[in-house]
Amino acid sequence: DTPTPSNFIHDIIDADLEAGRVVNVVTRFPPEPNGYLHIGHAKSIVLNFGIAQKYGGQCHLRFDDTNPLTEDEEYVASIQNDVRWLGYDWGEHLYFASNYFEKMYACALHLVKEGKAYVDSQSQEEIRQMRGTLTEPGKPSPYRERSVEENLELLEKMRAGEFGDGEHVLRAKIDMSNPNMLMRDPLIYRIRHATHHNTGDDWCIYPMYDFAHALEDAFEGVTHSICTLEFENNRELYDWVIANCPVKSEPHQYEFARLNLGYTVMSKRKLLQLVRDEVVQGWDDPRMPTIAGMRRRGVPPEALRAFCQLIGVAKANSTVDIQLLEYAIRDELNMKAPRVMAVIDPVKVVITNYPEDQVEWLDADYFPHDVPLEGTRKVPFSRELYIERDDYLEDAPKKWYRLAPGAEVRLRYGYYITCDEAIYGEDGELKELRCTYDPESRGGSTPDGRKVRGTIHWVSAAEAKPATFNLYDRLFTVERPDGDSEIDFQEYLNPESLVVAQGFVEPSVADDADDVRYQFERQGYFWRDSSSSNEALVFNRVVGLRDSWSK
Ligand code: ATP
Ligand code: MG
Ligand code: MG
Repeated sequence: DTPTPSNFIHDIIDADLEAGRVVNVVTRFPPEPNGYLHIGHAKSIVLNFGIAQKYGGQCHLRFDDTNPLTEDEEYVASIQNDVRWLGYDWGEHLYFASNYFEKMYACALHLVKEGKAYVDSQSQEEIRQMRGTLTEPGKPSPYRERSVEENLELLEKMRAGEFGDGEHVLRAKIDMSNPNMLMRDPLIYRIRHATHHNTGDDWCIYPMYDFAHALEDAFEGVTHSICTLEFENNRELYDWVIANCPVKSEPHQYEFARLNLGYTVMSKRKLLQLVRDEVVQGWDDPRMPTIAGMRRRGVPPEALRAFCQLIGVAKANSTVDIQLLEYAIRDELNMKAPRVMAVIDPVKVVITNYPEDQVEWLDADYFPHDVPLEGTRKVPFSRELYIERDDYLEDAPKKWYRLAPGAEVRLRYGYYITCDEAIYGEDGELKELRCTYDPESRGGSTPDGRKVRGTIHWVSAAEAKPATFNLYDRLFTVERPDGDSEIDFQEYLNPESLVVAQGFVEPSVADDADDVRYQFERQGYFWRDSSSSNEALVFNRVVGLRDSWSK
Protein backbone atom coordinates (compact mmCIF):
# COMPACT_ATOMS: atom_id res chain seq x y z
CA ASP A 1 0.00 0.00 0.00
CA THR A 2 1.10 3.53 -0.74
CA PRO A 3 1.67 5.49 2.46
CA THR A 4 -0.69 8.40 3.00
CA PRO A 5 1.28 11.49 2.02
CA SER A 6 1.56 14.17 4.66
CA ASN A 7 -0.98 16.93 4.63
CA PHE A 8 0.10 19.82 6.81
CA ILE A 9 -3.37 21.38 6.59
CA HIS A 10 -4.82 18.39 8.38
CA ASP A 11 -2.28 18.99 11.14
CA ILE A 12 -3.38 22.62 11.44
CA ILE A 13 -7.05 21.64 11.61
CA ASP A 14 -6.36 18.93 14.18
CA ALA A 15 -4.66 21.52 16.37
CA ASP A 16 -7.49 24.07 15.89
CA LEU A 17 -10.10 21.51 16.86
CA GLU A 18 -8.14 20.30 19.83
CA ALA A 19 -7.60 23.84 21.15
CA GLY A 20 -11.28 24.65 20.60
CA ARG A 21 -10.45 27.50 18.20
CA VAL A 22 -12.74 25.85 15.67
CA VAL A 23 -15.80 23.70 16.26
CA ASN A 24 -17.22 23.06 12.80
CA VAL A 25 -14.72 22.99 9.94
CA VAL A 26 -15.80 25.00 6.88
CA THR A 27 -13.74 25.18 3.69
CA ARG A 28 -14.54 26.45 0.24
CA PHE A 29 -13.58 25.87 -3.35
CA PRO A 30 -13.72 29.31 -4.97
CA PRO A 31 -13.27 29.18 -8.76
CA GLU A 32 -13.58 32.25 -10.88
CA PRO A 33 -15.99 31.31 -13.69
CA ASN A 34 -13.61 32.46 -16.41
CA GLY A 35 -12.68 29.09 -17.86
CA TYR A 36 -13.03 25.36 -17.41
CA LEU A 37 -11.51 23.63 -14.43
CA HIS A 38 -8.19 21.89 -14.89
CA ILE A 39 -6.35 19.20 -12.98
CA GLY A 40 -4.78 21.85 -10.71
CA HIS A 41 -8.28 22.76 -9.59
CA ALA A 42 -8.92 19.06 -9.00
CA LYS A 43 -6.15 19.15 -6.41
CA SER A 44 -7.87 22.02 -4.64
CA ILE A 45 -11.30 20.35 -4.90
CA VAL A 46 -10.03 17.06 -3.49
CA LEU A 47 -8.26 18.93 -0.70
CA ASN A 48 -11.18 21.17 0.29
CA PHE A 49 -14.02 18.70 -0.10
CA GLY A 50 -11.80 15.99 1.37
CA ILE A 51 -11.34 18.09 4.53
CA ALA A 52 -15.09 18.58 4.86
CA GLN A 53 -15.58 14.81 4.59
CA LYS A 54 -12.77 13.96 6.98
CA TYR A 55 -13.92 16.38 9.68
CA GLY A 56 -17.68 16.16 9.14
CA GLY A 57 -17.78 19.82 8.11
CA GLN A 58 -18.85 21.64 4.96
CA CYS A 59 -17.19 22.67 1.78
CA HIS A 60 -18.80 25.55 -0.07
CA LEU A 61 -18.75 25.84 -3.82
CA ARG A 62 -18.37 29.55 -4.30
CA PHE A 63 -18.08 31.32 -7.58
CA ASP A 64 -15.59 34.11 -7.16
CA ASP A 65 -17.30 36.18 -9.80
CA THR A 66 -16.16 39.71 -9.13
CA ASN A 67 -14.77 40.49 -12.58
CA PRO A 68 -17.54 41.06 -15.13
CA LEU A 69 -15.25 41.10 -18.14
CA THR A 70 -14.06 37.52 -18.17
CA GLU A 71 -16.89 35.58 -16.58
CA ASP A 72 -19.59 33.59 -18.24
CA GLU A 73 -22.56 31.33 -17.47
CA GLU A 74 -21.07 28.58 -19.63
CA TYR A 75 -18.23 28.35 -17.13
CA VAL A 76 -20.56 28.40 -14.13
CA ALA A 77 -22.37 25.37 -15.52
CA SER A 78 -19.24 23.49 -16.54
CA ILE A 79 -17.63 23.99 -13.13
CA GLN A 80 -20.63 22.56 -11.28
CA ASN A 81 -20.70 19.65 -13.67
CA ASP A 82 -17.00 18.96 -13.19
CA VAL A 83 -17.06 19.11 -9.39
CA ARG A 84 -20.02 16.72 -9.32
CA TRP A 85 -18.33 14.39 -11.76
CA LEU A 86 -15.25 14.32 -9.53
CA GLY A 87 -17.55 12.93 -6.87
CA TYR A 88 -18.27 15.89 -4.61
CA ASP A 89 -21.48 17.48 -3.44
CA TRP A 90 -21.76 20.95 -1.96
CA GLY A 91 -25.34 20.34 -0.81
CA GLU A 92 -27.02 23.68 -0.15
CA HIS A 93 -23.73 25.49 -0.03
CA LEU A 94 -23.62 27.06 -3.46
CA TYR A 95 -22.63 30.72 -3.36
CA PHE A 96 -21.83 33.55 -5.70
CA ALA A 97 -19.52 36.33 -4.58
CA SER A 98 -21.61 38.68 -6.72
CA ASN A 99 -24.57 38.10 -4.41
CA TYR A 100 -22.54 39.86 -1.71
CA PHE A 101 -21.92 43.05 -3.68
CA GLU A 102 -24.30 45.04 -1.49
CA LYS A 103 -22.73 43.73 1.73
CA MET A 104 -19.26 44.35 0.38
CA TYR A 105 -20.18 47.88 -0.52
CA ALA A 106 -21.45 48.39 3.03
CA CYS A 107 -18.01 47.29 4.27
CA ALA A 108 -16.38 49.79 1.94
CA LEU A 109 -18.59 52.57 3.33
CA HIS A 110 -17.63 51.45 6.81
CA LEU A 111 -13.93 51.71 6.00
CA VAL A 112 -14.41 55.20 4.53
CA LYS A 113 -16.31 56.35 7.59
CA GLU A 114 -13.57 55.00 9.82
CA GLY A 115 -10.99 56.91 7.80
CA LYS A 116 -9.53 53.62 6.53
CA ALA A 117 -10.29 54.02 2.86
CA TYR A 118 -10.19 56.89 0.39
CA VAL A 119 -11.05 57.68 -3.18
CA ASP A 120 -7.94 58.16 -5.25
CA SER A 121 -8.26 60.11 -8.48
CA GLN A 122 -4.84 59.37 -9.89
CA SER A 123 -4.46 57.34 -13.02
CA GLN A 124 -3.52 53.69 -12.77
CA GLU A 125 -0.05 54.58 -14.04
CA GLU A 126 0.45 57.29 -11.42
CA ILE A 127 -0.66 54.93 -8.68
CA ARG A 128 1.81 52.34 -9.87
CA GLN A 129 4.68 54.81 -9.95
CA MET A 130 3.94 56.13 -6.48
CA ARG A 131 3.86 52.69 -4.96
CA GLY A 132 7.65 52.53 -4.58
CA THR A 133 9.73 49.39 -4.86
CA LEU A 134 10.87 46.59 -2.61
CA THR A 135 13.76 48.78 -1.47
CA GLU A 136 12.02 52.16 -1.57
CA PRO A 137 8.91 53.23 0.29
CA GLY A 138 5.95 54.52 -1.69
CA LYS A 139 4.72 58.11 -1.73
CA PRO A 140 1.31 59.12 -0.52
CA SER A 141 -1.27 60.02 -3.15
CA PRO A 142 -2.23 63.72 -3.22
CA TYR A 143 -5.79 62.50 -2.55
CA ARG A 144 -4.87 60.43 0.49
CA GLU A 145 -6.04 63.02 3.00
CA ARG A 146 -9.47 63.66 1.51
CA SER A 147 -12.09 64.16 4.18
CA VAL A 148 -14.50 61.40 5.09
CA GLU A 149 -17.35 63.49 3.67
CA GLU A 150 -15.63 64.02 0.37
CA ASN A 151 -14.74 60.32 0.12
CA LEU A 152 -18.29 59.29 0.89
CA GLU A 153 -19.68 61.61 -1.71
CA LEU A 154 -17.22 60.43 -4.37
CA LEU A 155 -17.75 56.77 -3.58
CA GLU A 156 -21.50 57.14 -3.84
CA LYS A 157 -21.11 58.89 -7.17
CA MET A 158 -18.79 56.15 -8.34
CA ARG A 159 -21.45 53.64 -7.50
CA ALA A 160 -24.16 55.76 -9.14
CA GLY A 161 -22.28 55.62 -12.41
CA GLU A 162 -21.28 59.24 -12.61
CA PHE A 163 -17.68 58.50 -13.64
CA GLY A 164 -16.03 56.64 -16.44
CA ASP A 165 -13.77 53.62 -16.11
CA GLY A 166 -10.49 54.46 -14.40
CA GLU A 167 -11.46 57.97 -13.26
CA HIS A 168 -11.31 57.03 -9.59
CA VAL A 169 -10.56 54.02 -7.43
CA LEU A 170 -11.20 53.26 -3.79
CA ARG A 171 -8.09 52.41 -1.82
CA ALA A 172 -7.58 51.07 1.67
CA LYS A 173 -5.57 53.51 3.74
CA ILE A 174 -2.94 51.32 5.30
CA ASP A 175 0.75 52.14 5.01
CA MET A 176 2.65 53.46 1.99
CA SER A 177 5.99 52.32 3.39
CA ASN A 178 5.01 48.82 4.42
CA PRO A 179 7.69 46.33 3.33
CA ASN A 180 4.83 44.24 1.92
CA MET A 181 3.96 46.07 -1.29
CA LEU A 182 0.41 44.73 -1.16
CA MET A 183 -0.17 46.75 2.02
CA ARG A 184 0.69 50.07 0.38
CA ASP A 185 -2.86 51.34 0.14
CA PRO A 186 -4.21 48.54 -2.05
CA LEU A 187 -7.07 49.17 -4.46
CA ILE A 188 -10.32 47.77 -3.17
CA TYR A 189 -12.80 49.03 -5.78
CA ARG A 190 -12.53 50.05 -9.40
CA ILE A 191 -14.99 51.41 -11.93
CA ARG A 192 -15.99 49.00 -14.71
CA HIS A 193 -18.96 49.77 -16.87
CA ALA A 194 -19.65 46.21 -17.92
CA THR A 195 -22.53 43.78 -17.75
CA HIS A 196 -22.05 41.09 -15.14
CA HIS A 197 -23.27 37.53 -15.76
CA ASN A 198 -25.23 37.54 -12.51
CA THR A 199 -25.93 41.13 -11.51
CA GLY A 200 -26.35 42.52 -15.01
CA ASP A 201 -25.98 46.32 -15.01
CA ASP A 202 -26.74 46.81 -11.31
CA TRP A 203 -23.13 47.68 -10.59
CA CYS A 204 -20.46 49.68 -12.31
CA ILE A 205 -17.94 49.40 -9.48
CA TYR A 206 -16.43 46.03 -8.67
CA PRO A 207 -14.41 44.94 -5.62
CA MET A 208 -10.80 43.79 -6.02
CA TYR A 209 -9.75 40.25 -5.21
CA ASP A 210 -8.11 40.70 -1.78
CA PHE A 211 -10.93 42.74 -0.34
CA ALA A 212 -13.66 40.60 -1.86
CA HIS A 213 -12.18 37.21 -1.08
CA ALA A 214 -11.58 37.88 2.59
CA LEU A 215 -15.14 39.18 2.98
CA GLU A 216 -16.66 36.22 1.11
CA ASP A 217 -14.90 33.84 3.50
CA ALA A 218 -16.01 35.85 6.50
CA PHE A 219 -19.65 36.17 5.36
CA GLU A 220 -19.86 32.42 4.91
CA GLY A 221 -18.15 31.49 8.16
CA VAL A 222 -15.31 29.73 6.40
CA THR A 223 -12.77 28.55 8.97
CA HIS A 224 -9.87 27.41 6.80
CA SER A 225 -9.39 29.32 3.57
CA ILE A 226 -6.88 27.40 1.50
CA CYS A 227 -5.15 28.95 -1.47
CA THR A 228 -1.99 28.52 -3.48
CA LEU A 229 1.46 29.77 -2.48
CA GLU A 230 1.46 32.88 -4.69
CA PHE A 231 -1.01 34.34 -2.22
CA GLU A 232 1.34 34.13 0.76
CA ASN A 233 1.94 37.90 0.68
CA ASN A 234 -1.79 38.53 0.39
CA ARG A 235 -2.43 36.96 3.76
CA GLU A 236 -1.51 40.15 5.62
CA LEU A 237 -4.07 42.09 3.62
CA TYR A 238 -6.62 39.31 4.05
CA ASP A 239 -6.23 39.62 7.81
CA TRP A 240 -6.41 43.41 7.62
CA VAL A 241 -9.71 43.30 5.76
CA ILE A 242 -11.20 40.87 8.29
CA ALA A 243 -9.92 42.90 11.22
CA ASN A 244 -11.17 46.25 9.90
CA CYS A 245 -14.55 45.38 8.42
CA PRO A 246 -17.69 44.72 10.48
CA VAL A 247 -17.77 40.93 10.10
CA LYS A 248 -18.54 38.35 12.74
CA SER A 249 -16.32 35.44 11.86
CA GLU A 250 -12.57 35.25 11.54
CA PRO A 251 -11.39 32.93 8.80
CA HIS A 252 -7.71 32.15 8.32
CA GLN A 253 -5.81 31.71 5.13
CA TYR A 254 -3.34 28.88 4.53
CA GLU A 255 -1.23 28.37 1.46
CA PHE A 256 -0.23 25.14 -0.27
CA ALA A 257 1.82 24.38 -3.36
CA ARG A 258 -0.08 24.52 -6.60
CA LEU A 259 -0.01 21.53 -8.87
CA ASN A 260 2.20 21.89 -11.90
CA LEU A 261 2.13 19.05 -14.35
CA GLY A 262 4.78 18.36 -16.96
CA TYR A 263 4.18 18.49 -20.74
CA THR A 264 1.17 20.76 -20.47
CA VAL A 265 0.11 24.29 -19.55
CA MET A 266 -2.30 25.01 -16.77
CA SER A 267 -3.23 28.62 -16.73
CA LYS A 268 -6.78 29.21 -17.85
CA ARG A 269 -5.58 32.06 -20.02
CA LYS A 270 -3.30 29.76 -21.99
CA LEU A 271 -5.87 27.00 -22.18
CA LEU A 272 -8.37 29.54 -23.52
CA GLN A 273 -5.80 30.54 -26.13
CA LEU A 274 -5.52 26.92 -27.30
CA VAL A 275 -9.30 26.76 -27.62
CA ARG A 276 -9.59 30.11 -29.44
CA ASP A 277 -6.72 29.30 -31.80
CA GLU A 278 -8.41 25.97 -32.53
CA VAL A 279 -5.23 24.10 -31.70
CA VAL A 280 -7.53 21.73 -29.82
CA GLN A 281 -11.18 20.91 -30.45
CA GLY A 282 -12.54 22.75 -27.42
CA TRP A 283 -12.18 22.83 -23.65
CA ASP A 284 -13.05 19.15 -23.48
CA ASP A 285 -10.53 18.02 -26.06
CA PRO A 286 -9.09 14.84 -24.56
CA ARG A 287 -5.56 16.25 -24.77
CA MET A 288 -6.43 19.18 -22.51
CA PRO A 289 -5.49 19.04 -18.82
CA THR A 290 -9.04 20.15 -18.06
CA ILE A 291 -11.37 17.99 -16.01
CA ALA A 292 -13.78 18.02 -18.97
CA GLY A 293 -10.98 16.88 -21.29
CA MET A 294 -9.97 14.07 -18.99
CA ARG A 295 -13.57 12.98 -18.62
CA ARG A 296 -14.03 12.89 -22.38
CA ARG A 297 -10.76 11.03 -22.76
CA GLY A 298 -12.05 8.37 -20.39
CA VAL A 299 -10.12 9.02 -17.19
CA PRO A 300 -12.25 7.70 -14.32
CA PRO A 301 -12.96 10.20 -11.54
CA GLU A 302 -11.58 7.68 -9.03
CA ALA A 303 -8.21 7.86 -10.78
CA LEU A 304 -8.11 11.65 -10.61
CA ARG A 305 -8.97 11.56 -6.93
CA ALA A 306 -6.33 8.89 -6.30
CA PHE A 307 -3.77 11.00 -8.16
CA CYS A 308 -4.58 14.03 -6.01
CA GLN A 309 -4.11 11.90 -2.89
CA LEU A 310 -0.83 10.49 -4.21
CA ILE A 311 0.77 13.89 -4.80
CA GLY A 312 -0.07 15.04 -1.29
CA VAL A 313 -0.29 18.59 -0.02
CA ALA A 314 2.97 20.38 0.61
CA LYS A 315 4.37 23.86 0.94
CA ALA A 316 6.99 23.70 -1.79
CA ASN A 317 6.20 24.08 -5.47
CA SER A 318 7.28 21.32 -7.78
CA THR A 319 6.33 19.83 -11.11
CA VAL A 320 4.61 16.50 -10.90
CA ASP A 321 5.66 13.89 -13.43
CA ILE A 322 2.82 13.13 -15.81
CA GLN A 323 3.74 9.47 -15.44
CA LEU A 324 2.32 9.59 -11.94
CA LEU A 325 -1.06 10.58 -13.37
CA GLU A 326 -0.81 7.81 -15.94
CA TYR A 327 0.09 5.38 -13.20
CA ALA A 328 -3.01 6.35 -11.20
CA ILE A 329 -5.20 5.88 -14.27
CA ARG A 330 -3.75 2.46 -15.11
CA ASP A 331 -3.92 1.40 -11.50
CA GLU A 332 -7.65 2.16 -11.44
CA LEU A 333 -8.47 0.67 -14.84
CA ASN A 334 -6.38 -2.47 -14.44
CA MET A 335 -8.72 -3.80 -11.80
CA LYS A 336 -11.94 -2.93 -13.63
CA ALA A 337 -11.53 -2.91 -17.38
CA PRO A 338 -12.68 -5.95 -19.37
CA ARG A 339 -10.07 -7.16 -21.85
CA VAL A 340 -11.21 -7.30 -25.45
CA MET A 341 -9.48 -7.37 -28.81
CA ALA A 342 -9.09 -4.51 -31.26
CA VAL A 343 -6.79 -4.21 -34.23
CA ILE A 344 -5.73 -0.62 -34.70
CA ASP A 345 -3.47 -0.90 -37.72
CA PRO A 346 -4.88 -3.92 -39.54
CA VAL A 347 -3.40 -6.27 -42.07
CA LYS A 348 -5.40 -9.20 -43.42
CA VAL A 349 -4.55 -12.81 -42.60
CA VAL A 350 -6.05 -15.59 -44.75
CA ILE A 351 -5.93 -19.05 -43.19
CA THR A 352 -5.73 -21.13 -46.32
CA ASN A 353 -6.55 -24.48 -44.70
CA TYR A 354 -9.58 -23.19 -42.79
CA PRO A 355 -13.04 -23.94 -44.32
CA GLU A 356 -14.43 -21.00 -46.27
CA ASP A 357 -17.84 -20.48 -44.76
CA GLN A 358 -17.13 -21.66 -41.26
CA VAL A 359 -17.34 -19.45 -38.18
CA GLU A 360 -16.44 -20.79 -34.73
CA TRP A 361 -17.47 -18.85 -31.65
CA LEU A 362 -14.69 -19.17 -29.11
CA ASP A 363 -15.02 -18.57 -25.37
CA ALA A 364 -12.93 -15.70 -24.15
CA ASP A 365 -12.48 -14.44 -20.59
CA TYR A 366 -12.92 -10.76 -19.93
CA PHE A 367 -10.47 -10.68 -17.06
CA PRO A 368 -7.05 -12.13 -16.29
CA HIS A 369 -6.57 -14.33 -13.24
CA ASP A 370 -5.24 -11.56 -11.01
CA VAL A 371 -8.39 -9.47 -11.41
CA PRO A 372 -11.16 -10.74 -9.13
CA LEU A 373 -13.93 -10.23 -11.67
CA GLU A 374 -15.68 -12.78 -13.83
CA GLY A 375 -17.23 -12.81 -17.26
CA THR A 376 -16.79 -14.20 -20.74
CA ARG A 377 -17.96 -13.46 -24.22
CA LYS A 378 -17.85 -15.28 -27.55
CA VAL A 379 -15.29 -14.30 -30.14
CA PRO A 380 -15.78 -15.37 -33.78
CA PHE A 381 -12.96 -17.14 -35.60
CA SER A 382 -12.95 -17.61 -39.36
CA ARG A 383 -10.77 -17.97 -42.43
CA GLU A 384 -10.09 -14.25 -42.77
CA LEU A 385 -8.77 -12.28 -39.87
CA TYR A 386 -7.04 -9.00 -39.15
CA ILE A 387 -3.92 -8.74 -37.08
CA GLU A 388 -1.76 -5.77 -36.19
CA ARG A 389 0.54 -4.74 -39.04
CA ASP A 390 3.53 -4.53 -36.74
CA ASP A 391 3.02 -8.08 -35.49
CA TYR A 392 4.63 -9.24 -38.74
CA LEU A 393 8.24 -8.72 -39.70
CA GLU A 394 9.84 -9.88 -42.95
CA ASP A 395 13.37 -9.87 -41.54
CA ALA A 396 12.79 -10.78 -37.95
CA PRO A 397 15.58 -10.57 -35.39
CA LYS A 398 16.44 -13.53 -33.18
CA LYS A 399 14.10 -12.95 -30.28
CA TRP A 400 11.06 -12.07 -32.38
CA TYR A 401 8.16 -14.17 -31.14
CA ARG A 402 5.47 -12.78 -33.40
CA LEU A 403 4.79 -13.53 -37.06
CA ALA A 404 7.55 -13.81 -39.65
CA PRO A 405 8.06 -16.00 -42.71
CA GLY A 406 7.73 -19.61 -41.53
CA ALA A 407 7.16 -18.60 -37.91
CA GLU A 408 4.36 -19.96 -35.73
CA VAL A 409 2.35 -17.81 -33.35
CA ARG A 410 -0.62 -18.29 -31.04
CA LEU A 411 -3.81 -16.37 -31.71
CA ARG A 412 -5.30 -15.32 -28.40
CA TYR A 413 -8.17 -17.69 -27.43
CA GLY A 414 -7.77 -19.36 -30.85
CA TYR A 415 -5.32 -21.48 -32.75
CA TYR A 416 -1.66 -21.58 -33.71
CA ILE A 417 -0.96 -20.22 -37.16
CA THR A 418 2.17 -20.39 -39.29
CA CYS A 419 2.96 -17.78 -41.88
CA ASP A 420 3.54 -19.21 -45.36
CA GLU A 421 3.51 -16.16 -47.59
CA ALA A 422 3.40 -12.40 -47.48
CA ILE A 423 1.75 -10.52 -50.34
CA TYR A 424 2.82 -6.98 -51.09
CA GLY A 425 1.00 -4.38 -53.18
CA GLU A 426 2.61 -2.41 -55.99
CA ASP A 427 3.38 0.36 -53.55
CA GLY A 428 5.52 -2.07 -51.58
CA GLU A 429 3.05 -2.17 -48.73
CA LEU A 430 2.17 -5.42 -47.03
CA LYS A 431 -1.33 -6.41 -48.24
CA GLU A 432 -2.02 -9.86 -46.89
CA LEU A 433 -0.49 -12.76 -45.02
CA ARG A 434 -1.27 -16.32 -46.05
CA CYS A 435 -1.11 -18.71 -43.14
CA THR A 436 -2.08 -22.22 -42.14
CA TYR A 437 -3.56 -23.17 -38.80
CA ASP A 438 -3.16 -26.28 -36.69
CA PRO A 439 -6.67 -27.63 -35.96
CA GLU A 440 -5.28 -29.39 -32.86
CA SER A 441 -4.16 -26.14 -31.25
CA ARG A 442 -7.60 -24.78 -30.36
CA GLY A 443 -7.51 -23.27 -26.88
CA GLY A 444 -3.82 -22.46 -27.05
CA SER A 445 -1.88 -25.72 -26.84
CA THR A 446 -1.24 -28.88 -28.84
CA PRO A 447 -1.05 -32.60 -27.91
CA ASP A 448 2.64 -32.64 -28.80
CA GLY A 449 3.23 -29.83 -26.34
CA ARG A 450 5.42 -27.84 -28.71
CA LYS A 451 6.44 -24.44 -27.63
CA VAL A 452 4.92 -21.34 -29.21
CA ARG A 453 6.08 -18.30 -27.31
CA GLY A 454 4.25 -15.45 -28.95
CA THR A 455 0.54 -14.70 -28.54
CA ILE A 456 -1.05 -11.98 -30.63
CA HIS A 457 -4.51 -10.44 -30.76
CA TRP A 458 -6.74 -10.50 -33.83
CA VAL A 459 -10.32 -10.05 -35.00
CA SER A 460 -12.41 -11.94 -37.54
CA ALA A 461 -12.66 -9.85 -40.70
CA ALA A 462 -16.32 -10.43 -41.51
CA GLU A 463 -17.72 -10.04 -37.99
CA ALA A 464 -15.45 -7.31 -36.63
CA LYS A 465 -16.80 -3.76 -36.38
CA PRO A 466 -14.93 -0.99 -38.11
CA ALA A 467 -13.77 1.63 -35.64
CA THR A 468 -11.86 4.88 -35.46
CA PHE A 469 -9.19 5.10 -32.80
CA ASN A 470 -8.04 8.42 -31.38
CA LEU A 471 -4.51 7.89 -30.13
CA TYR A 472 -3.57 10.72 -27.83
CA ASP A 473 -0.15 11.76 -26.81
CA ARG A 474 1.25 14.66 -24.81
CA LEU A 475 0.13 18.03 -26.06
CA PHE A 476 3.65 19.46 -25.80
CA THR A 477 7.06 18.04 -26.54
CA VAL A 478 8.83 19.59 -23.57
CA GLU A 479 8.21 19.31 -19.86
CA ARG A 480 7.75 23.04 -19.33
CA PRO A 481 6.31 24.60 -22.49
CA ASP A 482 5.73 27.93 -20.73
CA GLY A 483 9.02 27.88 -18.85
CA ASP A 484 10.73 30.39 -21.15
CA SER A 485 9.19 33.84 -21.35
CA GLU A 486 10.96 34.55 -24.66
CA ILE A 487 9.37 31.64 -26.50
CA ASP A 488 5.67 31.26 -27.09
CA PHE A 489 4.46 28.05 -25.50
CA GLN A 490 2.65 27.08 -28.68
CA GLU A 491 6.04 26.61 -30.36
CA TYR A 492 6.32 23.41 -28.37
CA LEU A 493 3.03 21.82 -29.47
CA ASN A 494 3.44 18.16 -30.26
CA PRO A 495 2.37 17.67 -33.91
CA GLU A 496 1.53 14.07 -33.10
CA SER A 497 -0.57 14.71 -30.02
CA LEU A 498 -3.48 13.12 -31.87
CA VAL A 499 -3.11 10.29 -34.37
CA VAL A 500 -6.34 8.97 -35.83
CA ALA A 501 -6.32 5.33 -36.92
CA GLN A 502 -8.91 3.17 -38.70
CA GLY A 503 -9.19 -0.43 -37.58
CA PHE A 504 -11.57 -2.99 -36.12
CA VAL A 505 -12.94 -4.14 -32.79
CA GLU A 506 -14.38 -7.55 -31.97
CA PRO A 507 -18.16 -7.62 -32.39
CA SER A 508 -18.97 -8.19 -28.69
CA VAL A 509 -18.43 -4.50 -27.90
CA ALA A 510 -21.50 -3.59 -29.97
CA ASP A 511 -23.66 -5.04 -27.17
CA ASP A 512 -21.97 -3.11 -24.39
CA ALA A 513 -23.02 0.05 -22.61
CA ASP A 514 -21.51 3.25 -23.97
CA ASP A 515 -19.42 3.98 -20.89
CA VAL A 516 -17.42 0.77 -20.65
CA ARG A 517 -13.71 1.31 -20.34
CA TYR A 518 -11.82 -1.53 -22.00
CA GLN A 519 -8.36 -2.78 -22.11
CA PHE A 520 -7.73 -3.49 -25.76
CA GLU A 521 -5.28 -6.33 -25.35
CA ARG A 522 -1.65 -5.32 -25.85
CA GLN A 523 -2.75 -1.77 -26.76
CA GLY A 524 -3.95 0.16 -23.78
CA TYR A 525 -7.14 1.41 -22.18
CA PHE A 526 -9.88 2.84 -24.36
CA TRP A 527 -13.45 4.01 -24.19
CA ARG A 528 -15.97 5.43 -26.59
CA ASP A 529 -15.62 9.06 -27.51
CA SER A 530 -18.77 11.15 -27.05
CA SER A 531 -19.04 11.30 -30.85
CA SER A 532 -19.21 7.49 -31.14
CA SER A 533 -22.36 5.73 -32.41
CA ASN A 534 -23.19 2.14 -33.27
CA GLU A 535 -22.89 3.01 -36.94
CA ALA A 536 -19.54 4.73 -36.48
CA LEU A 537 -17.60 3.58 -33.46
CA VAL A 538 -14.95 5.95 -32.15
CA PHE A 539 -12.62 5.00 -29.31
CA ASN A 540 -10.30 7.25 -27.35
CA ARG A 541 -7.11 5.89 -25.91
CA VAL A 542 -7.24 6.82 -22.24
CA VAL A 543 -3.70 5.67 -21.54
CA GLY A 544 -1.27 3.14 -22.93
CA LEU A 545 -0.36 -0.04 -21.09
CA ARG A 546 3.00 1.27 -19.98
CA ASP A 547 4.98 4.39 -20.44
CA SER A 548 5.98 4.66 -24.06
CA TRP A 549 7.19 8.24 -24.20
CA SER A 550 10.67 8.13 -25.69
CA LYS A 551 11.15 11.46 -27.46
P1 ATP B 1 -5.56 29.86 -13.31
O1 ATP B 1 -4.26 30.49 -12.97
O2 ATP B 1 -5.42 28.53 -13.98
O3 ATP B 1 -6.49 30.77 -14.00
P2 ATP B 1 -6.80 30.47 -10.85
O4 ATP B 1 -6.13 30.23 -9.56
O5 ATP B 1 -6.89 31.84 -11.34
O6 ATP B 1 -6.19 29.48 -11.92
P3 ATP B 1 -9.37 30.07 -9.78
O7 ATP B 1 -10.64 29.86 -10.50
O8 ATP B 1 -9.19 31.31 -9.02
O9 ATP B 1 -8.25 29.86 -10.84
O10 ATP B 1 -9.05 28.82 -8.87
C1 ATP B 1 -9.95 28.28 -7.95
C2 ATP B 1 -9.20 27.58 -6.86
O11 ATP B 1 -8.38 26.57 -7.42
C3 ATP B 1 -8.29 28.53 -6.13
O12 ATP B 1 -8.51 28.36 -4.74
C4 ATP B 1 -6.91 28.11 -6.50
O13 ATP B 1 -6.06 28.21 -5.43
C5 ATP B 1 -7.07 26.66 -6.92
N1 ATP B 1 -6.12 26.32 -7.96
C6 ATP B 1 -6.00 26.87 -9.18
N2 ATP B 1 -4.97 26.34 -9.87
C7 ATP B 1 -4.41 25.42 -9.05
C8 ATP B 1 -3.30 24.52 -9.17
N3 ATP B 1 -2.56 24.48 -10.27
N4 ATP B 1 -3.02 23.71 -8.13
C9 ATP B 1 -3.78 23.74 -7.03
N5 ATP B 1 -4.82 24.55 -6.84
C10 ATP B 1 -5.15 25.39 -7.84
MG1 MG C 1 -8.05 33.09 -8.98
MG1 MG D 1 -6.92 33.15 -12.98
